[in-house]
Amino acid sequence: MSADQTQPDTPHAVPTAPPTAPTAPHSHSDTNAYHGPLEWFARVDAPEHGQGLRFACTSCGNCCSGPPGYVLVSDAECHALARRLGLTTQAFIDQHTQVVERGRSLKEVPGPRGFDCIFLDRQRVSGKAICGVYESRPGQCRTWPFWGHTLRTPETWAAAGRSCPGINTGAIVPLHQVRVLRDSVPMP
Ligand code: SF4
Repeated sequence: MSADQTQPDTPHAVPTAPPTAPTAPHSHSDTNAYHGPLEWFARVDAPEHGQGLRFACTSCGNCCSGPPGYVLVSDAECHALARRLGLTTQAFIDQHTQVVERGRSLKEVPGPRGFDCIFLDRQRVSGKAICGVYESRPGQCRTWPFWGHTLRTPETWAAAGRSCPGINTGAIVPLHQVRVLRDSVPMP
C-alpha cells in the first residue's frame, strides 16, 4: 500500500500535516466514557454498535496504486521479504526498495492508476489486483484500513471508504482486533 502525501482521502494517503481535530465528541456521554473521544467506533451508537468495523478486501488494488507514495519497510520486513524471494537481504533492498523522506519504502512501477507497488500483480487473477507477497507484506499493508488517521472520525473512515470498496462490507472485524491493528504500526 503506497502512502501518498497529497491525497488524504485515499488508502495510500498519509497527510503531511496532523489531521484536523475530530468533531466535538460527546464527552459527557456514558457510551463515550470508557473508550475516549476518538474511538467513535466503540460507541454503542456507532454503526456496528461498538462491536467493531466491517471490512472485506475486494482485491481491487486501489490501496496499492495511485499517485506516487510509499510503503515503509523495516529491516525485519526486508529480511522476511528477501527470504520469501530467495534473495539476500541486501539484494532485496537494492532491487526492491528506495529511500524516501520517511524511511525505506518498497519501489513503485508505472501502472494504470499512476504507480503500482512493485509487488502488485494485475496478471494472476483476471480483473483483480493481488499482492504478490501477501503473506510477507509489510505492516503498513497488513494494518490497512485500520490506521490511526482513517479511524480518527466517522468522516475520515467514510473518506477512506470512497476509494476502498472493502470498507463497511463483509464481516465485522472485532473491536479488539481493530485496536491491535491500529496500534501495531505507527501510522499517522
Ligand atoms: S478493497 Fe480496499 S484493501 Fe482491498 S485492495 Fe481494494 S482498496 Fe485495497
